[in-house]
Amino acid sequence: MKKDNNDAMKSDHQMQCIACGSNMETFIERISDDRYGCPGVYSIERCVSCGHMTTTPPLTEEDLPGLYSTYYPRREVDFSAIEREAALVNKPFAAFNRWMAGTDHQGHYLAQPGEKVLDVGCGSCISLLEMRNKGIESWGIEADPNVRTIADHFGLQVHIGNIYDLPFPDMKFDLIVLNQVLEHVPDPSAMLQAVRERLTPQGRVIMAFPNTGSFHHKIWKDRWINWHIPYHQNHFNRTSFTKLAGKFGYKVENVRTVTPNLWSVLQLRTARERKQEGKSSSTWTHNADAIQVRPPFFTRLKNVALSRGARGAGMVMGLGNRILDAAGKGDSLLFVLRPI
Ligand SMILES: [Zn+2]
Repeated sequence: MKKDNNDAMKSDHQMQCIACGSNMETFIERISDDRYGCPGVYSIERCVSCGHMTTTPPLTEEDLPGLYSTYYPRREVDFSAIEREAALVNKPFAAFNRWMAGTDHQGHYLAQPGEKVLDVGCGSCISLLEMRNKGIESWGIEADPNVRTIADHFGLQVHIGNIYDLPFPDMKFDLIVLNQVLEHVPDPSAMLQAVRERLTPQGRVIMAFPNTGSFHHKIWKDRWINWHIPYHQNHFNRTSFTKLAGKFGYKVENVRTVTPNLWSVLQLRTARERKQEGKSSSTWTHNADAIQVRPPFFTRLKNVALSRGARGAGMVMGLGNRILDAAGKGDSLLFVLRPI
């Protein structure tokens, strides 16, 4: 998609905010994929009233499988690394360690034994394994066909596709979680509606996604890692998401912010690199010119997380992140919703 299409689309009609219906104006004129080098130039439009932002031109559901299987790194997986990661959930002080590292920004950690849990966009399935390790029954939905091998290997109940396919047709869920998913979805309104239909009357929905009201967003501006263009289609803040959720019959039971220390490390590394349109970043791919030959995802994640520099920086930044989180200025919002 080219910028020309974008301009043509904008001249046809004034865009309106999905959360409050007010007009949108351009917030960032030119932005492109600075992680994996997916071609295309986009803009960010911002609601003049609630501050909700959208990526323009938008993607469609049909664009997603091709985009993710070509430009998103989950083609090779390390089963034992996944298993080791998921086993940490039962270690002593696991919840405290997650709080320290800022990795408790995921709704499934709030699941209770006896609940039936659906993870929409379960990715590498670590969340489903963690819940199994805690004795909680869970199901997953994932658009990326590469996840099939992980689900089959561990015997997990995962539907490859999306929630609109009506997977697990006769089931309702006590808890539905979307961990860093809603921002990727072309139509968040349709997603909120579809999720509500799969919820038991007393059920909860927990959604986590980046926070444009964060301190890091203010500091890093167009280099903020959570723009993540074009994969992130909508960019929420506390006000805009509360309005959108209200339109679909949800009340907010709780909201807080969490900043994963790893995000801060990646943010600093990204900021050191020169940004080039259509080029992948060495922070995210290790080798900027070798997009076809990437090491496995978990190897890279492990390298970043365990390298001594990253660990030291993470510990120093951890304290700052916990203060930002307490002030509500963290990089990820975590909403707990109930149906009204
Ligand atoms: Zn708005």
